Order: sequence, then structure tokens, then C-alpha cells
Amino acid sequence: MSDHARPSNDESTGCRPGCGACCIAPSISSPIPGMPEGKPAGVRCQQLDGRNLCRLFGDPRRPLVCLRFDFDIELCGDHRDVALYRIAALEVAT
Ligand code: SF4
Ligand code: SF4
Repeated sequence: MSDHARPSNDESTGCRPGCGACCIAPSISSPIPGMPEGKPAGVRCQQLDGRNLCRLFGDPRRPLVCLRFDFDIELCGDHRDVALYRIAALEVAT
């Protein structure tokens, strides 16, 4: 699996830089700098900057789960609102 493009400035995989839905909608159980307990679903990650890009891109402190998350058209859809809705729905279902 390739490194995912979650707010990485890399549009080659289909990820929409500036979307950031996958850094808001899901819960993350691993520690994140500034969020030692991880983050609950629906809460904006503290490492998501004002342009909805990850401040930790390329930083070893970036959680593994973030590195492993790939753009997925089924989940990300064609708009940020779609991604927010679908990821939140998945979170409830799992
Ligand atoms: S939800 Fe999908 S499109 Fe949006 S930033 Fe994450 S990987 Fe990219
Ligand atoms: S650490 Fe970066 S990639 Fe992971 S949820 Fe936070 S902003 Fe998103």
C-alpha cells in the first residue's frame, strides 16, 4: 500500500489537498502531538493546519494509522462533505 495522500499536497493518488475530512471524522486511538490520548470521532486533529493540511507530513511523530490511510474513492467521494459523512457513518458502523 502506498503512503496515503491525506493532507499531503499530493494529488497524484486522488486525494484532495485541503479536504482534511479523514483528520476530523474518524477517531484515532494513537497518541498525536498535542492529543496524547488520540482524538474522538468528529474532533479536528490539532495537527491539521488552517489550510486543512497535516503539519506532521514527513514527521516520524505522525501516527502510523495516518500513514496507512489511502485515498479511497468509495470513502472519499468527490467532495469533502461526502467524505465527512461517509467516514462518520463508517465510524458509527464499526
Ligand atoms: S478524506 Fe480522502 S480526499 Fe479527504 S483528505 Fe482524506 S484521503 Fe484525502
Ligand atoms: S496527524 Fe496529520 S494526518 Fe493524522 S489526523 Fe492529524 S492532521 Fe490528519
